[in-house]
Amino acid sequence: MTYKLFVNGEFTESSTRETYDVRNPANGTKVDSVSKGSVEDTRAAIDYAYEALNREKKSPSNIPRILQVTSELVRQSETELATIMTLEQGKTLLESRGEIKFFAHTLEYYAGMKVRGSQVRISDSSKIAMVEKDPVGVVAGIVPWNNPILLMGAKVSASLAAGNSIVVKPASTTPLSTLKVAELFSKAGLPKGLLNYVTGPGETVGEELVTNPKTRKVSFTGETATGKRIMELASRQLKRVTLELGGSNPIIVSDDADLDAAIGAALNGRFRNCGQGCMCVKRAYVFEQIASKFVEKLKEKAQAIVVGDGMKPETTMGPLHSKNQLQKVSSQVSETLERGGELITGGHRPDDPDLSNGFFYLPTLVTNVDENSRLVSEECFGPALPIITVASMDEAIEQANDSIYGLGASVWTKDLGRAKKAAQELEAGTVLINSLYGAGGWEIEVPMGGFKQSGIGREYGIEGLESYTETKTVIMG
Ligand code: NAD
Repeated sequence: MTYKLFVNGEFTESSTRETYDVRNPANGTKVDSVSKGSVEDTRAAIDYAYEALNREKKSPSNIPRILQVTSELVRQSETELATIMTLEQGKTLLESRGEIKFFAHTLEYYAGMKVRGSQVRISDSSKIAMVEKDPVGVVAGIVPWNNPILLMGAKVSASLAAGNSIVVKPASTTPLSTLKVAELFSKAGLPKGLLNYVTGPGETVGEELVTNPKTRKVSFTGETATGKRIMELASRQLKRVTLELGGSNPIIVSDDADLDAAIGAALNGRFRNCGQGCMCVKRAYVFEQIASKFVEKLKEKAQAIVVGDGMKPETTMGPLHSKNQLQKVSSQVSETLERGGELITGGHRPDDPDLSNGFFYLPTLVTNVDENSRLVSEECFGPALPIITVASMDEAIEQANDSIYGLGASVWTKDLGRAKKAAQELEAGTVLINSLYGAGGWEIEVPMGGFKQSGIGREYGIEGLESYTETKTVIMG
């Protein structure tokens, strides 16, 4: 079968009839093929979204009910959706299931949330002043491959709940699970045109979404470099942008921390989804008094990770998503070792010949790390953790903040003073104190986003909903 674009409530071939294959990162086999959308297809989808929005303004449908029913259908389809995601993305089936559950919960959360305006008393008491929250218009949603459903889910649920229509571009390598979800929205009764999925390259489909005058807001999740390009293009028409970009999230482990809990957090934080999460732990700053114990115990646990095909029940870490990813992570590790880093475990592909056709890489720990090495200065989107020893919380915070990124940070300490200091001084959109990340890397009910070059704006929570609205002041005399 060939998966097709989802435009105006129907699955349609691309105007060029071109298709391409989606391949399994665990073994290189073809999962399925998919229509390759063109600029023309994208324009058509935007036009339909625009018309649907105008119809919706005149006669609104019951979006909360539709989101709720979709959520139930997503739950019923968990196994099918999770299987497709594991085949196209590589993560373990358990991780895919977690992502589908998170999506169902997101739909439910926004189904229950209303956009709220307010009435404000102004100095001229003969007038009534109201602050309305209007839908922003047609939204362009651009999604990466690491959490294809979860990240699409935030954009679609909040856009629709705020009264918008949306055209989504999934990542080229993970379109299948997303297109499967389109069926469920249709089944739940979503009016045609309010949600459209156009697959295809970023340079054509993505850039048309960003530059087409009918899209009013771009909600993008992906690399910082791509985010800069999108902001530049969007600025030409002063479009609203939400940019959820890269991160190099530190974990700080103090000498008084619950060590086993902190090690669990580092393990799960670094190696889940094969390290390919914006909110994954990417650098560890460990107090010198406990560093050798931390490294020894983490090494034992990292070596116990079962690397393999995500479809196999015994697998606890799947492959990297692509050859590019594999090359990038390998080169970041090699460069860090050349600068004097000490390899504690991993640092290469597994020897198992059964894994030779996949993009597998072993869980990797490096100590003695030069602070200018690539594992520290760049975002590492793979299973490699640099471990740096520090003498104090001040030093840990200073080094943690010494990054262009500011997405997440986590701190492990029993000392309230240290915890408070870290919460106040860390430059990050989310600071976790003695706390593991939620199922999908963060929590639905609170805003998520980045300081510095990790992004602009927030998704999730009430802030996420409001980012899909325009504020209108109405004064009645
Ligand atoms: P990417 O920037 O390469 O691609 C993301 C999406 O943008 C894809 O759909 C791609 O096709 C599209 N795209 C590429 N060039 C484009 C262009 N010129 N115009 C419009 N669209 C274009 O990112 P990726 O490699 O798919 O994803 C990994 C990155 O995403 C990591 O840096 C990760 O940290 C980041 N990320 C951030 C968050 C967050 O919430 N902050 C969440 C997940 C992932």
